[in-house]
Amino acid sequence: MDPDLSISKIPGIGRYYEYKLRKLNINTVEDLIYHFPFRYDDFSQIKTIENIQTGEIVSIQGVIWQIKNIRTRSGKFVTVVTVADQSGTVEVVWFNQPYLTQTLKAGMQISLSGKIQLEGFRAKLISPSYEILRSNISQIESNFNQGQTLHTGRLVPIYPETEGISSKWLRGKIAKILPEYLKNQKDFLPKEILKGQKLAKLSDALNFMHFPKSNGEITKARKRLAFDELFLIQLASQMRKLNWQKTRIAPKMKIDNERFTKFEKKLPFQLTSAQKRTIDDLLSDLKKDTPANRLLEGDVASGKTVVAAAAVFAVHLNGYSSLVAAPTEILAFQHQTTLAEILSMHGMTIGIWTASKKQKGDVTVGTHALLNNFKPEKPTGLVVVDEQHRFGVAQRGRLFINQSTKFTPHLLTMTATPIPRTLALTLYGDLDLSILDEMPKGRQKIATFVVPNAKRHKAYKFIEEQVKKRRQAFIITPFVEPSETMTSVKAAVQEFEKLKTKFTKSVNLGLLHGKLKSKEKEAAIQKFQKGTIDILVATPVVEVGIDIPNATIMMIESAERFGLAQLHQLRGRVGRGKHKSYCFLFTESNSPNSLKRLRSMEKIDIGFELAEIDLKMRGSGEIFGLRQSGFVNLKVADLADRKIVSEAQNEAKELLSFDSSLKKFPLLSQKLNKLQSEYIQPN
Ligand code: ADP
Ligand code: MG
Repeated sequence: MDPDLSISKIPGIGRYYEYKLRKLNINTVEDLIYHFPFRYDDFSQIKTIENIQTGEIVSIQGVIWQIKNIRTRSGKFVTVVTVADQSGTVEVVWFNQPYLTQTLKAGMQISLSGKIQLEGFRAKLISPSYEILRSNISQIESNFNQGQTLHTGRLVPIYPETEGISSKWLRGKIAKILPEYLKNQKDFLPKEILKGQKLAKLSDALNFMHFPKSNGEITKARKRLAFDELFLIQLASQMRKLNWQKTRIAPKMKIDNERFTKFEKKLPFQLTSAQKRTIDDLLSDLKKDTPANRLLEGDVASGKTVVAAAAVFAVHLNGYSSLVAAPTEILAFQHQTTLAEILSMHGMTIGIWTASKKQKGDVTVGTHALLNNFKPEKPTGLVVVDEQHRFGVAQRGRLFINQSTKFTPHLLTMTATPIPRTLALTLYGDLDLSILDEMPKGRQKIATFVVPNAKRHKAYKFIEEQVKKRRQAFIITPFVEPSETMTSVKAAVQEFEKLKTKFTKSVNLGLLHGKLKSKEKEAAIQKFQKGTIDILVATPVVEVGIDIPNATIMMIESAERFGLAQLHQLRGRVGRGKHKSYCFLFTESNSPNSLKRLRSMEKIDIGFELAEIDLKMRGSGEIFGLRQSGFVNLKVADLADRKIVSEAQNEAKELLSFDSSLKKFPLLSQKLNKLQSEYIQPN
């Protein structure tokens, strides 16, 4: 069966089911085969009727003696069935399914799975799953249908469903189609990898996934299918990387060690060893004629700017200019100031290129949008993209390369999102990664508290006292939706109005949300910066990536709805000055897990550790909004599983090292092309 065959061509699937299946994102035969169970009902314990016990989940097989519908006093239907096997009889009961008497008839041989419960004084089988083994009792001498059941008497797969499409229906369809699908499917994984990784064959894996005979088979299936997902993503990104290196030439830089020693000496602080290591990474990138494509991850205030400045300096010494792209105008100005502090003394001019001010320099800082078409006086040797913590890092960065020079500039992307290494390996497999995992010395800890609702008024009072001391606070309004629509804005405005009544008149509140015009946004931030606003009320998605040294309180509503890494980033907005700072996390949730997760914010102040905790507790889909991003589509693989992630990467690298275009592996190449056209956005 052609894997790409439309589901509408599958026998028994008409318009109705086609429509429903498309809702589940199932469009082709292959989509249906790759619609995997998310759990299994363990109905594998088959017992004779005399041995069943109250409270057990069991399967029995027997013959229907009698079946009837009874109407209760309240007008509801109860279907009562007596089933017998060689050892005895048991009563089976279903509620509100009177039509069952049309399907199930006396004399039929059936298989039932469900829970045995005590009703009155008798153990009964209540609302079990059922399937008909033989419809005629006269056939009973012929072989019993052992092991052939689909919905009962085994590990039964439960699928993601939608209204009108049940797991039972999906099970039936997949059981019919799978053998046909597998008939002309060849395994696309190279044999050496199958062997080396001890993976199940594809056909076995798919069979095990849908219709396992044991938990061991499920494990084998998941291992193979998870490996496939990660391996294919790695192959795609490694091939992209090779292609990038093959087709692009970057200006090769010489590194003047003496000038660099001087540069380091003149800094107002001592570099951390993480900063030194990262600068070394970058300088060795610059020495090559393949363009660097490096991602620098470092917590808020871990000192990324000086690392970028070192690279900018090296590029300058080689006669090239650099561009630094910031997400907002305010951040661009902030960068200009910081870079000037480090680089002016070495004779460099720092330009600015934003909507309101345009001035070219040896290095020019501007907003992402404007720098796309920027023409510097000297050829560009380096592009730095700052605070790119959304997805598509690589793609964004490449916008800057379409220039008339024959060179592609080196590219450095910086992010404060602490993406754990395992996750970064998969998401950004084609980038080189440097991590600033060490904070400069002497940073103050931000006292963090998960605040129960009962103490809310106390928190407001505390804020008011801080304001009296001329300090400032952020209040993040409840998280309504992952993206800012009018619903979120409305909630923010409501919260803002409510908050006004909580503080005395002398406290000035300002509101910041994504639907404000950018002029209004900047005005609000500037007022906050100047201190005319005491409390800035902001929606969760608004970027407040700006230094307000006087802000000492970060209060966050609906904290449970954020990833820990996000909370940590928000928290990083305070504690930037000399005053003791605080973070209050409010939550409506009472779930112990959710509270435990939030409490880790009280103890841990390292972004990477928090991100790892989230990765373990919530899985990779939930953190960083990965599930919504559509960037990767993982059904089986768990990015928290370091071992399999790095093995997939190693295998991909090794394979490409002796066959970089996959000429010898046409099946794999085909599979990859298909995947790329479906999931991975083209650059
Ligand atoms: P971010 O990583 O958030 O971009 P910055 O580069 O803005 O952080 O650095 C935050 C602050 O820390 C700046 O004021 C900078 O001067 C200071 N800083 C950077 N590196 C060090 C260091 N090694 N020791 C002390 N202070 C440092
Ligand atoms: Mg920064």
